[in-house]
Amino acid sequence: MAQEKAAPDLAALDRAVIGDVWTSDEAYKNLVYLCDECGSRFGGTESEREAVDYLLAKMNEYGLEDVHTEEFEYTGWARGTAKLQSTSPERREFPCIALPYCGAATVEGQLVFLGSGHPDVYAEKAAEIKGNIVMVTTESPPDLKRTMHRMEKFGRAVAAGATAFIWMRDQPGLLEETGSLRFNAEADVPGLGVSKETGAAILRLAEKGPVKLKVTTKNKVERMTSWNICGELRGQESPRRLLITGGHLDGHDIAPGAIDNGSGTVIVLEAARALARIKAELPHTIRFVIFPLEEIGLIGSEEYVHAHRREMRNVQFMVNVDAAGAGGEPTLLVQGWKELMPVFKDMAERMKQPWRLSNGISPYSDQFNFAAAGVPSAFMSTRQSGRKPDERGWGHTAADTLDKIDPRGLQMDALNLARLLLYASFQEQDWPASHKGKGEIKKLLENQDLWEVLGFEKRLPLRDW
Ligand SMILES: [Zn+2]
Repeated sequence: MAQEKAAPDLAALDRAVIGDVWTSDEAYKNLVYLCDECGSRFGGTESEREAVDYLLAKMNEYGLEDVHTEEFEYTGWARGTAKLQSTSPERREFPCIALPYCGAATVEGQLVFLGSGHPDVYAEKAAEIKGNIVMVTTESPPDLKRTMHRMEKFGRAVAAGATAFIWMRDQPGLLEETGSLRFNAEADVPGLGVSKETGAAILRLAEKGPVKLKVTTKNKVERMTSWNICGELRGQESPRRLLITGGHLDGHDIAPGAIDNGSGTVIVLEAARALARIKAELPHTIRFVIFPLEEIGLIGSEEYVHAHRREMRNVQFMVNVDAAGAGGEPTLLVQGWKELMPVFKDMAERMKQPWRLSNGISPYSDQFNFAAAGVPSAFMSTRQSGRKPDERGWGHTAADTLDKIDPRGLQMDALNLARLLLYASFQEQDWPASHKGKGEIKKLLENQDLWEVLGFEKRLPLRDW
């Protein structure tokens, strides 16, 4: 009689994964390639294409199965030129950048500065805003209990009749902060980014009298093609049961996007490499998906969830890694499945790892499309100590470069991800999270005042709803 195969020993596999990742510099080397050899990986660039080829080759090299791309079309954006001038009380020109999905237009109007752009201010100042040019800072309104995203401020300004939008960074350093105005669609009116210093100069000019501004932009919005990059490790016991992890490949076109999100891309890849070495022992299938185009509308993940919508019911859990690897505290934001909080608390304790755990749905990274399809999901990131939750740090600026990455931090985050997937894969019996219906997801968003926000951001109805 053939000897029965011994049950896999989680502790032994865990040690193997730890030893492997902790003695590997693959994640950092991959990140150097993505940032230095490819570049921004922004949608529609040659750099994106090179990164896709590189990641496919790496997935094959690491022994993943069913490695392939999934192609789709979307509305892309290509940067042209942008000019910001004052015509009164003095003629001046200010440095600025166009924000993604800003089209081609010339607009003149009076400056209306709304500070951090609290949701209530657009109704209060409706008469001033209509037909004029709004400027807000990147800071979340201090008296608002949630973070307020750029897209919401833009959406509310447009709804109030603004004819152009200026996004003033609240951190010093002569850096403009970029970020898309709409998702997967041309913006209604032009939008520009200015540094804190430039914004301050404009505000000083306003002390001399009402400021009239002229905005001239020439950018292209057109149909483009992109690719999700997929690979998996097929489970030995119940292969149809899926754990999915992913991260977005693209940075903004003004930077190599080392933190946001070269880091998440190579962390997912490193977890794949380490888990591939123990693939014969994995009970469930773990799928690794690298998404393009997160920065301009979570487009890759939306296409992925749509293309695999019938398979989503088999997904036990999805974890998205975005903006990690810069050192600091590992954070896991569960997307509204509070029954998973004790699971991860217990997991972190067994791993002897201090994770910052919280629960709340967030519509601003790729896990959102999975959550919106009812899939239990979470967002994994790291936060430097002392940084406020709404502070981007170097993300979305030209300074999101490789030197901001801590190679040890990358290893640590890759370990956290690989171990989380390994533990979750062994936890089928006592996995308390079930899929949510659309009503429950809507309720989660409403409870955080986000349903109305999605309306202002022109994101409703959600895909496949
Ligand atoms: Zn990101």
